Amino acid sequence: MKFSYYIGLLVVFIISSCASQPPKVIKQVVRDTVIINQTTDRYESVRMAKLDNFHISTSKYPAKGQDDRVRFLILHYTALNDSLSMKVLTQQEVSSHYLIPNDGSDSIYLLVDESKRSWHAGASFWKGINNLNFSSIGIEIVNQGYTGTFNTNADGTITDTRYFYDFPQKQVDKVAELCKDIITRYKIDPVNVLAHSDVAPGRKHDPGPKFPWKYMYEKHRIGAWYEDFHKQTYLGQFPYAEKDSMSFIQSVQADLEKYGYEIQKTGIWDPQTQKVLQAFQYHFRPEKYDGIIDAETWAILKALVLKYRS
Ligand SMILES: [Zn+2]
Repeated sequence: MKFSYYIGLLVVFIISSCASQPPKVIKQVVRDTVIINQTTDRYESVRMAKLDNFHISTSKYPAKGQDDRVRFLILHYTALNDSLSMKVLTQQEVSSHYLIPNDGSDSIYLLVDESKRSWHAGASFWKGINNLNFSSIGIEIVNQGYTGTFNTNADGTITDTRYFYDFPQKQVDKVAELCKDIITRYKIDPVNVLAHSDVAPGRKHDPGPKFPWKYMYEKHRIGAWYEDFHKQTYLGQFPYAEKDSMSFIQSVQADLEKYGYEIQKTGIWDPQTQKVLQAFQYHFRPEKYDGIIDAETWAILKALVLKYRS
């Protein structure tokens, strides 16, 4: 039995490595835990019991009542170079599913199987859901982050002398193709394609304002973006005279919460609101990321809520 099994494997190997033969399509190999997902035509790994005395069939009763663990895609930068990124993400208490180096190569590294949790998001929240490691795929992009400093002063003002580093086009192309593949396979909602800073405002600033979210949406339809004509309409409605009133501040907090951010509706421009607004600006208004509302930030928020949350 064992001997014939190995002979069989050898034959398959010889056939598949012979260039003159057409490629062999493996329909199902149960013991080797490889199947073809019928909806995507891609190979996926399967984790299941392997019993000594009984056979487990994977083909006869596939339940309709199931869905994917993965609902979010979260992007990061490592703030380290290639070799240190690999070292930290493989040898310490943090990890990601994928690591995209900045070495000009075609390589992308899979560090954690997609069916397992990687430890990339930490304390995190989006639209009522906590601890997003349970329900996300994490992609770390090698980028040095920023130079300079960012401080919140005693009087609540911010000193920000940061300069964020660009993402090279080749690296962006790699991120785009990988994101598209993941979003398609798990049918991830556009509003659930997020920056680490979106799900941990204030605590995290990656992948930062230089990450080309607009380009990702316009070129590849990755993630969420607002319609410009909606923004233009709202721009003319910004209530300059009311902008520090409790009711206006609460309405902004309510819109940020409605879109997905974790925020308390305090009715004041407090540090937590500033942090959330800054995360929002990193993603959707990268020309200005001081965490202070202006007509443009407000109009973009209203346009996004209109498009995706109403
Ligand atoms: Zn991160």
